[in-house]
Amino acid sequence: MAQSRIMVLGVGFDNVTMEEAAQKAIELARSGGGYVVTPNAEIVYACRKNPEAKDAVNGAALVVPDGIGVVKASRILKRPLKERVPGVELGTAILPAAAKHGLRLFLLGGKPGVAEEAARKLTEKYEGLVIAGTADGYFQNDDEVIAKINASNADILYVCLGAPKQEIWMRKNRDKLKVSLMLGLGGSVDVYAGKVERAPEFWQKMGLEWLYRLMKQPKRAKRVLGSLPPFLLAVYKERRQERKAAK
Ligand code: UDP
Repeated sequence: MAQSRIMVLGVGFDNVTMEEAAQKAIELARSGGGYVVTPNAEIVYACRKNPEAKDAVNGAALVVPDGIGVVKASRILKRPLKERVPGVELGTAILPAAAKHGLRLFLLGGKPGVAEEAARKLTEKYEGLVIAGTADGYFQNDDEVIAKINASNADILYVCLGAPKQEIWMRKNRDKLKVSLMLGLGGSVDVYAGKVERAPEFWQKMGLEWLYRLMKQPKRAKRVLGSLPPFLLAVYKERRQERKAAK
């Protein structure tokens, strides 16, 4: 998949639908294969100033656009991505197949107790799903948490440490981890645990989930609003440069 990636400000995205992304993730899990990232505009913009984050994102086996901003940017650049693939939805889209194939899941991240609550809710909802273990995201020692994950015999690991911490963590530790697939899913663990609500469908369809989240979690405003305008400016600049080069 890596060859045909669609570039948005230096980050390459796989042009897949949600269904295709879920299928690819399960294939990776069954063939012992890599990690998945779901960057939004804020992360793409952050990658411009953070080469370690950029390498971690581009080194993933599957890169999908979490936010509408990246999809809009791909349209502005005239190489449209098929659709938005929110990490929180990809994380649940693969669960029925994980249960069916007996792939065991480990949930890492969130405040103490959140991953356990998420595990309880997910096993209630997805019949046959096995949660191999959980750990909160405020650990001090990587090796201890890696030993716990390996001892659980998990096949799939959800890494919910926020971006770009989780992407860098997955890249750095992938060789020490015995899991076959990792997904960097940010605050999804809070959603699965019922601590944070997603925007109602209407807001999602209008491409305004980011605005809803800003209203519910105003402390995100500085971070999100601070990076969106420069992200769009950079996209238009890239389009101008590409047009000039094509003349
Ligand atoms: N988090 C964590 N360890 C850390 C920092 C953050 O486990 O050192 C968790 C935090 O509790 C939250 C998630 O990572 O559950 C980040 O959520 P947020 O919505 O801020 O991230 P995003 O989805 O926007 O990347």
